[in-house]
Amino acid sequence: MTYSSILSSAGLAPKELSRGSLAVHSPIDGAEIATISETVSQDFPAIIARAQSAFRQWRSVPAPRRGELVRLLGEELRAAKDELGALVTLEVGKITSEGLGEVQEMIDICDFAVGLSRQLYGLTIASERPGHRMAETWHPIGPVGIISAFNFPVAVWSWNAALALVCGNPIIWKPSEKSPLTAMAAHRCLERAIARFGDAPDGLSQLVIGGPDIGAALVESRDVPVISATGSTRMGNIVGPKVLARWGRPILELGGNNAMIVAPSADLDMAVRAIVFSAVGTAGQRCTSLRRLIVHESIHDDLVAKLKAAYASLPVGDPRESDTLVGPLVDAEARARMLAQLEKARSEGGNVHGGEAVKMGVPQGGAYITPALVEMPAQTDTVRTETFAPILYVMRYANLEEAIEMQNDVPQGLSSCIFTMNLREAETFLSASGSDCGIANVNIGPSGAEIGGAFGGEKETGGGRESGSDAWKGYMRRQTSTINYSAELPLAQGVRFDI
Ligand code: NAD
Repeated sequence: MTYSSILSSAGLAPKELSRGSLAVHSPIDGAEIATISETVSQDFPAIIARAQSAFRQWRSVPAPRRGELVRLLGEELRAAKDELGALVTLEVGKITSEGLGEVQEMIDICDFAVGLSRQLYGLTIASERPGHRMAETWHPIGPVGIISAFNFPVAVWSWNAALALVCGNPIIWKPSEKSPLTAMAAHRCLERAIARFGDAPDGLSQLVIGGPDIGAALVESRDVPVISATGSTRMGNIVGPKVLARWGRPILELGGNNAMIVAPSADLDMAVRAIVFSAVGTAGQRCTSLRRLIVHESIHDDLVAKLKAAYASLPVGDPRESDTLVGPLVDAEARARMLAQLEKARSEGGNVHGGEAVKMGVPQGGAYITPALVEMPAQTDTVRTETFAPILYVMRYANLEEAIEMQNDVPQGLSSCIFTMNLREAETFLSASGSDCGIANVNIGPSGAEIGGAFGGEKETGGGRESGSDAWKGYMRRQTSTINYSAELPLAQGVRFDI
């Protein structure tokens, strides 16, 4: 398929792809595939007013009816899966099955949210006072601003959008300036669902296009009570305090520096498969990508030999080809950052395997590179830094306590895992004195989460939770009510105040 046929199949008209100031490039070959119009900050008052007006109507629509809109969105996404998946591949360079997997994740969260629309449960609580009842109710909170990163150009939006909509909130989405086309196509799916739904308020969902300035306009608005921002820790450092300073609620999903501990009893063949997928899948550009391997000294050499063999045969190339497993990095700057980090690792005593630019047999103009395996003598500052590229640092440990300490000794706290057949080791890793991450797995890699669990991490990863479990509570306001059905007015804690 040509680039223009991928764009038109995803519902994007040539007219809207050639009329603006924001240039969009494909990582496949660096070609400019569109120039689109950007939102200007002067438009924001009207955008926010539309969202506020939509909120006044949408909050009173019964939640199961709101769920019907999300059910229709799921239908639209199912119908557009192939086209949207192909656009993800074109715009961010994911291999075909990962592009499709991203759309499947959107469908999954829609299914989840439809069920959720009948389960926005509150508690009833025993009152200490006779003839009284206490209850907790969850109410819609207001417009939700969604700022998303390039590497999951649509799935992260859907995690937020599906929950926010069933929770009774309008949404305003600012996608990454590197992936606005996938956002436009996904938003069209929601617009079609809204048209089929019939009576959704205008302004229920709005898309704003642009870079950090446009994100900042959203972040600074007092009338957008929740800002869900996904991206680098650098971005979260700016966005989080700004939202808090105006008494808003940030949901921050920031950088990770994810590790795997491989214990002596591990099934090494299974570990190798998990390591390779999670370290080089999406060309190492997942927030949950495996970046640190902490291996018991008794199996270190054996595992490294197996990994070198596996890395040597990895097909790097055009993400549209069915046998490619490692596509391009998002752009040349990302490749330059990867090469610079490898230099730093070398200067800290690292022994680097791979990490070479690939020029032959790949589309010219793309940032193709072989994934790097780096044997490190210790966990240095370079290892503690997230580099958004396929670099896997390998280090040794002697006992589990030391391994867990190394696993936790980084600023980020997103995902982690252990490979072991030893129940004591597995449970210690999952215990209060084990991994300090938001995600901790056993005998499975750190990446590729399902939507059923709450997703997010601690420390510099930001503390936010999205997607499954009770993450929906972040998109609602909690109200505690005490109802007195007696003829007396007793005070709590035995306080007397008789008049
Ligand atoms: P980025 O921080 O450069 O950009 C992310 C988004 O934030 C973009 O939409 C960008 O325009 C916006 N932005 C940047 N500065 C802003 C500001 N000052 N005010 C408002 N908006 C601003 O990140 P990226 O390069 O697109 O994505 C890669 C990063 O995202 C990695 O660090 C990765 O770990 C992280 N990430 C985290 C998760 C997660 O769930 N924890 C998921 C995906 C990506």
